[in-house]
Amino acid sequence: MVLNISLPDRHTFYAGRAQKSSSSSSSSSSTTFQSIDPSTAKPVCTIHTSSQSSIDSAISSAKSAFPSWSSTPPIERARILHKAVQILRSRNDELAKIETLDTGKPFSETSTVDIVTGADVLEYFANLVASGGLNGESFRLRDSAWVYTSKEPLGVCAGIGAWNYPIQIALWKSAPCLAAGNAMVYKPSEVTPLHAQFLAEVYKEAGLPDGVFNVVYGAGDVGSYLTKHPDIAKVSFTGQVSTGRKVAGSAAGEMKYVTMELGGKSPVVVLPDADVDQAVDGAMMANFFSTGQVCTNGTRVFVPDTLKAQFERVLLQKIKEVRAGDLMDMDTNFGPLVSDAHYKKVTQYIRHGTTVDRARLLCGGFDQRPTNLPSQLKNGYWVSPTVFTDCSDDMRIVKEEIFGPVMCILPYSSLEEAVARANDTELGLAAGVFGKDINQCHRVVKQLQAGITWVNTWGESPAEMAVGGWKQSGVGVENGRRGLEAWVRNKSTLVEMGGTVPTVFAKL
Ligand code: NDP
Repeated sequence: MVLNISLPDRHTFYAGRAQKSSSSSSSSSSTTFQSIDPSTAKPVCTIHTSSQSSIDSAISSAKSAFPSWSSTPPIERARILHKAVQILRSRNDELAKIETLDTGKPFSETSTVDIVTGADVLEYFANLVASGGLNGESFRLRDSAWVYTSKEPLGVCAGIGAWNYPIQIALWKSAPCLAAGNAMVYKPSEVTPLHAQFLAEVYKEAGLPDGVFNVVYGAGDVGSYLTKHPDIAKVSFTGQVSTGRKVAGSAAGEMKYVTMELGGKSPVVVLPDADVDQAVDGAMMANFFSTGQVCTNGTRVFVPDTLKAQFERVLLQKIKEVRAGDLMDMDTNFGPLVSDAHYKKVTQYIRHGTTVDRARLLCGGFDQRPTNLPSQLKNGYWVSPTVFTDCSDDMRIVKEEIFGPVMCILPYSSLEEAVARANDTELGLAAGVFGKDINQCHRVVKQLQAGITWVNTWGESPAEMAVGGWKQSGVGVENGRRGLEAWVRNKSTLVEMGGTVPTVFAKL
C-alpha cells in the first residue's frame, strides 16, 4: 500500500504558528525544496526555506518567551511536557506514517520505535525536573558562611538534526532543553523535515507558551546562520563528524556551549565462546536495522577464526529474514535508503569494497536490489543487505562510515589482537561484545574505547542511559541524568553572615 497523505506546505514556525518567510535581502527567502518518499522517489511535501529574517524572527520569538518559561516552576513545566507525551502517544500511528513517508523506514519500525523512544525521553526529563533534577547543592563553608550552587538555564538554544531519526532526535534535544527552562530553535535535516511542524503543534496543544519551541527549515547555510547567531547560547548538533567539526569550531569562537552527537564505525567483538546464533542476531541488528542508517551501527564485526565458517553459514541463513517490501505491511522489516544522494554514496562504497578493496562478497552487492518489490516501489532507493568477509583493517569500507546495510566481517586469532584492532579508529561512538563468559565480556568491554557499549545485545538506548561518543564521535551526552546537565549552567553564591565584610582595607 502506498501512503497517500496530503501534507500542506511547511513554513518557518515561530511565535506559536507557521509563518511565511518574510522578505529579506537573503537570496533564499523564497526558495523551496521537497520531501521525497524514498520508497517511490516521489515528492510528498513542499518546504519553504527560512530566510535570514525569518530565522531572526524565530530566534527573537524564543528570546521573548525565555524569561517567563525559565521562571516557570519546574513542576509546572513538567505538567505541560507530560501533556505533550500523552498527545504524542495518542497520535503515535499518525506521526509514524509521516515518518515512514519521509524516511522510508517500515511502519513496523516507526510505529514501535521512533515516536515511542522520543516520547519516553520527554517523559523522563519531565519526571526528572519535577522531582528535583534541577536542584543545586548547598554547604556550610564555615559557621558564618554558606555556599549555594543553582542550575540556571542557558537561554535560546539551537537544535540541529540529522535525517536518520527525525522525531526522536527532535525530542532528545527539545525534551531536556525545555525541561531545564530554555527555549529552542530547531532545524531538522532538509532530507526529513516533516516531523518538525507536527512536534511544534503537539507542544502548542499541550500548552507550551508560544515561542518556546520554534522551527526553521533549510540546508547547511540555514544551520550555519542559526548556530553563529549571537543570541544562541548553545548548539546541540547531530550529524557527520565533518559537519560537527565546522559547527563546533564556529560555536567555540563565540564561547557557545555545544553537544556533538556524531558518526561512528563501531566494532562488534564476538568472543570465542559466543553462542553463534545469538552473535549473528546481534550483528544483524547492528547492521541492518533501519537499513543500516543508525549512528551506532556495529559495522566492523570481529569474529574468531575458529567461528568464522559457522558465523557465515548462520548469517546467510538468517539474512533471508530481512524482508523488504510494502512499508505499511507489518511484516516488512527493511526499507530503502533515505535519498537518491545517499543511495549513490552507499552503492559507491559497496562497489569500492568489491572492485578496489577486493573484500570477499558474501551476499548483496552494489547492483543488488531486494527481489519481489511491488511495481510501485521499483523507483525507490533500495539496496540489498550486503556482507563482506575476510576484510582487513586497511580497507576503505572498514575504515569509513558508510551508513548503510553493509557489514564487514574481520577474522581474528587472539582476543588482544581483536581489542587492539577494534580500538584502532579515530571514532568511538559504540562497541559491543557477545560471549557466554560474562566476566570476560566485562573485561573486553572495559577495554573498548567507546561511549556507548553493549554486552549480548545491540542498539537499545533507553531514556535513562546517558549516550555520547568518545574521540571524534562527539562531545557531551544525551539522555540520563547527565543529559540534563548539558542544558544548564551553574551559579555559585557565597553568603557571609558574620556581620562584618572581610576586608584588607580596614583602618590601621
Ligand atoms: P550532516 O552532518 O550532513 O547534517 C546534519 C545536520 O546539519 C543537517 O540538519 C544539516 O542540514 C546540517 N548542516 C549541514 N551543514 C551545516 C553547517 N555548516 N552548520 C550547521 N548545520 C549544518 O549529517 P546527516 O544528516 O547526513 O546525518 C548522518 C550522520 O549523522 C551520520 O554520520 C550519523 O552517524 C550521524 N548521527 C549521529 C548520531 C549520534 O547520536 N551520535 C545519531 C544520528 C546520526 P541539511 O542536511 O539539511 O543540509
